[in-house]
Parts: sequence; structure tokens; C-alpha cells
Amino acid sequence: MPRPLRVLFVSPEVAPFSKTGGLGDVAGALPAALASLGHEVMVVTPKYATIKDKSLERTGEWLRLRFPAGEAQGPISWKRVGPNHDVFFLENVFYDRDGIYGDSRGEFGDNALRYTYLSVGALSTAQLFGFEPDIVHLNDWPCGPAAVALKRGYRGTALERARSVFTIHNLAYQGMFPKRVMDELGLPWDLFHSDGIEFHDGVNFMKAGLAFSDALTTVSPTYAREIQTHDGGASLDGLLRARSHSLTGIVNGIDPAVWNPEVDPAIPAHFSAADLAGKAACKRALLERFGLAPSDAPVFAVISRLTPQKGIDLLMATMPRVLHAGMRFIALGSGDGQLEGAFHALQARFPGQVGTWVGFDEKLSHLIEAGADFFLMPSRYEPCGLNQLYSLRYGTVPIVRSTGGLADTVSDISQPDGTGIRFDDFHVGALEHAIWRAMHLYSERGWLDEVRRRGMGQDFSWDASAREYERLYRSLAL
Ligand code: ADP
Repeated sequence: MPRPLRVLFVSPEVAPFSKTGGLGDVAGALPAALASLGHEVMVVTPKYATIKDKSLERTGEWLRLRFPAGEAQGPISWKRVGPNHDVFFLENVFYDRDGIYGDSRGEFGDNALRYTYLSVGALSTAQLFGFEPDIVHLNDWPCGPAAVALKRGYRGTALERARSVFTIHNLAYQGMFPKRVMDELGLPWDLFHSDGIEFHDGVNFMKAGLAFSDALTTVSPTYAREIQTHDGGASLDGLLRARSHSLTGIVNGIDPAVWNPEVDPAIPAHFSAADLAGKAACKRALLERFGLAPSDAPVFAVISRLTPQKGIDLLMATMPRVLHAGMRFIALGSGDGQLEGAFHALQARFPGQVGTWVGFDEKLSHLIEAGADFFLMPSRYEPCGLNQLYSLRYGTVPIVRSTGGLADTVSDISQPDGTGIRFDDFHVGALEHAIWRAMHLYSERGWLDEVRRRGMGQDFSWDASAREYERLYRSLAL
């Protein structure tokens, strides 16, 4: 039996405490899956004001980090979320705001400091509690400074032997800051060059993570290839090509404790591949929730951050061309104000057929997954995507653009093992055609149920993915 590993897992968001997207889900579920493989996992994340969980406890330890402008400090809280699995929360006045990375006025101006505090604070927290990690697993740009600190700041300590893994959840968000943060954060100027953390005469935290971590991963094999190309590399493709041998793609799993239509407390009726009857009750409840009359027409749905990445603009351009066929369309999302406006406009134009809700509503997202017939993901790019996995699990047929993780997890119904509908071109005609194919599938009940059952039978549990991370960790650990 190889010995269990100690993993320090650092993330700017951790579900169920904080979440803006898939990273939060991953940071909740992957450490749990690793712990159930027998590893010891310490998760470190900020304690945002939005975290209302009353069961967090103060540890009694106080974190103090020295920066050129003075000390940043705060207490550390924690919660044991499972055997071998603790989450530590760093408290600081600059996390005490009504938002995670920003608020309605935009990104917070001191994010370089806020996330350097997380990065370096996570390493120091491990030290304070005598946790000597074999692996430090870093996630997205907020953890970039930790990769640098680990290489530079901990020689002669137990952290020197830790190996770092940096996971790219979305390469488009890079954490770019003006070069004055070099002095503000006390970063060594010898790192400020094109092979270091400098990027267009500023500092790029994502680049820091990519350049200084021992291994790189991203959340699907296709996205791992795409980000090494000029079109998909967001100006970091050169560095990623240079580190190609250290980069692997591991698809995210889903947390079966949260997403399981057989027991989900957020939905009015339960169902399984063997007995789909409850899905009809969920569909009725969904239509009612959005003030739509009961109907046998197919329900198409979307749940999304409203950003250009997600192709909601393409969807809004396409729906008016197909809604005359009588389907229902339900949309939940928040983000870009213009796209929020487009939701409302579509609903006003097709009352009785379209239901929309602007906001972030976890419970509602479960009802939509359970009650819809088709789930739309026309993304421009998609590192992994979780909603298509939830859709498959809930017998809701995903309609996806063939990109990134969507291409790795959904096979087209033209194939014998098909679980969804795929289209290639980011174009109204291509999406429209995919929707007509869905209408055709819906008209053939036996086929539809077969596709649904096949999707529900797919194994996207974290177990398989956690084992891939475990293999990677073992290949690195000293
Ligand atoms: P991304 O991380 O790019 O936003 P993913 O598909 O990986 O995309 O994960 C998105 C996660 O956030 C899913 O769990 C999805 O259900 C959830 N989500 C996105 N927007 C909303 C919303 N408005 N309300 C509730 N959940 C949402």
C-alpha cells in the first residue's frame, strides 16, 4: 500500500461556502474525493462576508503577512467537512465585502493583494498547523503567487519538498495588474521578465502559476490542446506549448451528494434511469415556477454566467427563429447587463413560452436541470463545463457546441452511444439546426428515452478523476 499523501488545496472559491462557477464546485468535490481515497486534504480559501455558515469555528491562530506597505493580518477559522478533509478560512477586512472578486462596480481594485494574501497565507497556514504537504494544488490566477512563493520563499522549511500542481479552470481570466504591484507586494524584480511573471509590462498571476508550478493541469483533454493554439491560448499559448510535457487534461466530475435526481432535496419528485416518471412532475413544477401553463411541448433551458464565453448572444439571436415551433424556453443567468436585458426582451416578445430569471439561484438550477427536456450550451469555448454533466445525470439532453470539455463529455445522437446533440460552427444556422434535431428527437419518444437513459448511465463521478489526480501527485511527490 503506498502511503497516503498530504495535499494542501488552495482555491479562491469552495462550494458550498462560496461559488461563482465551476471552480467552486470542483474545490468542494475534488478534495472530498481525494480524502475518500485516503489522502489527507487541507483546503484553504478566503472567508468572504457572503459566507454565512455559522458552524465555522475560530482556530485561535492568527495569520500575519508582511508587505512593504505594512502587515496584513487576520484570524483563521476552520471546519472539518469530512474525515481527512478540513477547510481553513482566512479572514481579513478585504474579504469583508459584498462580492467575491468584485461587485456591481467591477473587479475590486486590491485583488492583487487579496489573492497574494490567500496564496502566501495558505502556505503559512499549513506551517502554522504543522501540515507538511507533499502536494500544493493551486487553482487559477488567484493562486499564481503561491507557485512563486513556494519556489522562492520556503527554502529550508518542510514546504521545500512540496511539489506544486496548478490547475487552469479558465485561461481567459488571468489576474493582470500594473507593474507597481511588484513593489506593493514585495515581489522580487528579477522575476519581472518575459520568462517570469511579466506580461505586456504588467504582472500576470496566471502566468506566474504556469511558469513556476511543477505540473499543470486543465479540466479536459480537448481544452488542454486548445489552449496551446494561437486561437485558444489567450496570449499564453507559447508558454503552454513550452510546458506541454507538464500539462494534462483531467475532466471534472460531479458531486453525487449534490447532483442526484434520485434523492435531490431541491426537486419536487425523484427519478432514475429505471423510472423516469418523476421527471414529468419536475417539468410541471418548473413550468409553474416560471408562470407557464402545463404543456407537453419540449422545454429548452439554459443556466449560465452571462459572459461572451457562454454564447448567450448566439442563443438570443437563434431563439426567435425557432420559438414559433411552440417549444418552451427557460433561462437562468446573471452577469452582463445587456444579456440580462435580452432575457427580459425575449420573455416580453414570447409570453407564455419563455420564462427567465436574472440572478444566481442554486436551488432553482436543480429544478431546471430536473424539469427541462434539453439543455443548451452554445459556448464559444468551454474548459470543462459542468451543466452538461448535470443535464446528463438528470435525463436532460444537452445541446452543445463541440468545444473543450463539451466535446469530451457529450457524444452526438448520430452515434450508437449518443447522449446529446452537438454542433460545430459558432453560427445561428448551426445552433438552429441543432434545435430542429432536438425537436425531431423529442417527437420520437422511444429514442428520446433511450438517449436519456444512456446519459443518466454515464459515470461522471469524481472517483475516476480523483484517481487521475492521485496518479499525477504520486508521479511528482518526493
Ligand atoms: P463556469 O465555471 O464557466 O461558470 P461551469 O459549467 O463549469 O461553468 O459551472 C457553472 C456552475 O455554476 C454550475 O454549477 C451552474 O449550475 C452554476 N451556475 C451558473 N450560473 C448560475 C445561476 N445563475 N444560478 C445558479 N447556478 C448557476
